Amino acid sequence: MSSDIGRFKLEKMIRELKEKRGRGTELISLYIPAGRPIGDVMSVLRQEYSTATNIKDRTTRHHVLEALTAVMQRLKLFKQTPPHGLIIFAGYVAGDAPGDEKMEVHLIEPPQRLRMWLYRCDSRFHTEILEDMIKVEDVYGLIVLDRSEAAFAVLRGKNLEVVEEITSGIPGKHRSGGQSARRFERIIEQLAHEFYKRIGEHANRIFLKIPELKGIIVGGPGYSKEEFVEGDYLHYTLKEKIIGVFDVGYSGESGIYELLVRAKDLLKDVRYMKEKEVMNRFLYHLSRDTGLAVYGENEVRKALDMGALDKLLLSEDLEKYRIKFKCIQCGYEGETTVKSLDDVLRCPKCGSEVQVIEEKTLIDEFVEKAKNSGAEVILVSSSTSEGKELLKTFGGIAGLLRFKI
Ligand code: ZN
Repeated sequence: MSSDIGRFKLEKMIRELKEKRGRGTELISLYIPAGRPIGDVMSVLRQEYSTATNIKDRTTRHHVLEALTAVMQRLKLFKQTPPHGLIIFAGYVAGDAPGDEKMEVHLIEPPQRLRMWLYRCDSRFHTEILEDMIKVEDVYGLIVLDRSEAAFAVLRGKNLEVVEEITSGIPGKHRSGGQSARRFERIIEQLAHEFYKRIGEHANRIFLKIPELKGIIVGGPGYSKEEFVEGDYLHYTLKEKIIGVFDVGYSGESGIYELLVRAKDLLKDVRYMKEKEVMNRFLYHLSRDTGLAVYGENEVRKALDMGALDKLLLSEDLEKYRIKFKCIQCGYEGETTVKSLDDVLRCPKCGSEVQVIEEKTLIDEFVEKAKNSGAEVILVSSSTSEGKELLKTFGGIAGLLRFKI
């Protein structure tokens, strides 16, 4: 769950970074791969600094030099590069009016190991590599097997990697002379069992190290796949992740490709299954009037503050902000929710304009509250009809209670 929120926040941040523009080519994008020593990075940046002193346009030159200095200052705080590498965006971001520029420095620890180096000075931030990193959100494991061979593959987004193929060496139907048919059959069964065990070991080794694995799909010709799935061969956490078993004509690598075609619809649905399921539970409690369903900003906030909320449903498309303000005239302090940060706020006591002390998105505010009270957060996209309903009918915020209030 927390990784979903992490991804969601990152997506939002990228959307904002993409909008930002420099007055000239003065915005720095720096991608530091995992394992690159900070000292190396610093010496590259010092070189870039001396190159930048030759920039002709005076303002651009100053801006680039200042941005580089800011980057180096931040880097000095690191003893070593974080385990996944580091991404830095820095520079004077243009405001609405000319001369309205503001220095911004954004540090991002990438969600996966960053393998490439990039230094770019441009009129925009280069977020593409980071975008690609979080695009691969759905990871599935594929196993295709029969008694003679098995293949394992990992599907990341649209990228399919066949990881391994193994063969059993189990002889075919032709038994050698001298053995009784029953004895031969018993040996074959034993060998099949041994082979399933091996398949299970390979699958455990490949898939257990992928914590973000969303599901496993098993295929193959004949009934071996059922024997494998029903038997005690896979680690139980992987067994729980099996989302489909399909008949395919081949085993081995070609079977993997066939399985992928068969499982297409299934894969599309899984993504939305959890949010659909929890939305349906909410709608069920609402329609039965069990008293366990709450919705709307105020009601859900109240339940959260009481520690009564079990599950918090938030629409990803909820575009609102929570503002803390203070009135300069009369000293009144309060909080309110606004649709846009450009709204002019007036003091509810005396009507004069107020000063904003703190602002955050409503989603951030609720996620924080949920964290403090132990409620599970489910971010709901608007891709399903249930998700659209959450946004339109229930104001984008709903919840299930632990107990009636
Ligand atoms: Zn006032």
